[in-house]
Parts: sequence; C-alpha cells; structure tokens
Amino acid sequence: MGTDHIPPDSPTLSAVHAEMKARLRAKGLRATRPRLAILAQMHILARPLSHPEVMEALGEASFDRASVYRILADLTAADLLRRMDLGDKVWRYELLSHVDREADDHAHFLCVLCKQITCLPEVELRPVRGGVLPPELTGAEIHLKVTGRCGVCMAGQSFS
Ligand SMILES: [Zn+2]
Ligand SMILES: [Zn+2]
Repeated sequence: MGTDHIPPDSPTLSAVHAEMKARLRAKGLRATRPRLAILAQMHILARPLSHPEVMEALGEASFDRASVYRILADLTAADLLRRMDLGDKVWRYELLSHVDREADDHAHFLCVLCKQITCLPEVELRPVRGGVLPPELTGAEIHLKVTGRCGVCMAGQSFS
C-alpha cells in the first residue's frame, strides 16, 4: 500500500491539492491540511476506502484516528465523499467525481477473500424478454451488491 504514496513535493500532488481545494471551497468548507490530505489520497487511490485504509494511506505524517473519522463524516455530509456499506458491515468512503451525486451512482464489486473493492461502470436495470418492472420501482433507489472472487485471488488459489 505504501507504494501508492506520492512524495509531498511532487507537482502531481500539488495539482491534486489545487483541485481538492476548489472542491472544498465550492462547498463552503475551509481547505485545512487534514481535509486536503484525505481528499488527495482518495483521489489518488480512486477506490472506496475504509477508515483504517484511509489512516494507512495517510502514512507516517499521521493525523489522529478520531479527527480523520470526523473529517470523513463532514466530507460525506458535504457530498464530497459518499459513504457505503457493501454488506460486510464496514463503512467505506469514496470521492464523488461529479458535483451532481445522481450522475455518479455506480455499483461496486467486493472480493469476499481479500476484501478489495472495485468500482464498476454504471449499469442500467432493465427487464428482458418482455418483462415489466412494477410501478413501485419508479423513483426507487437501487443498491446492487456484487460479490465474488477477484482475479488476483482466483489466480492465487490455483497455485495453493
Ligand atoms: Zn480478492
Ligand atoms: Zn466507486
């Protein structure tokens, strides 16, 4: 996981910080150092992260667990992050890539072995073979749960 870190003085990271600063300000939030650090890691890793994974991603320049937890909650309330439970009782957070949360309603794949999460492309729920969805479904929020074994775990298993 440590290999995902970008040195603090790299130009890539400062571009990410500028973008995240703009997003915070657009929501009327101050661009504090811990908020920026958390948003930048979520942007770089580009997948849902649990609270412990966020702590790990922040690395040695650590912030305390309670403040990180509070910041994750604040950023979720501000619609900068989305919080999800993929059925394994672990809250994970991911950066919303659009200002409009409706436009970013993709599902996730959870590997039951290594617990890695993969973002899936947006899917459409559509009946086939002449099926009709009940009218109750209009305006429903649909949460797809996709679980299984990821490619890495499948490959690993065939050797053991
Ligand atoms: Zn796996
Ligand atoms: Zn995602």
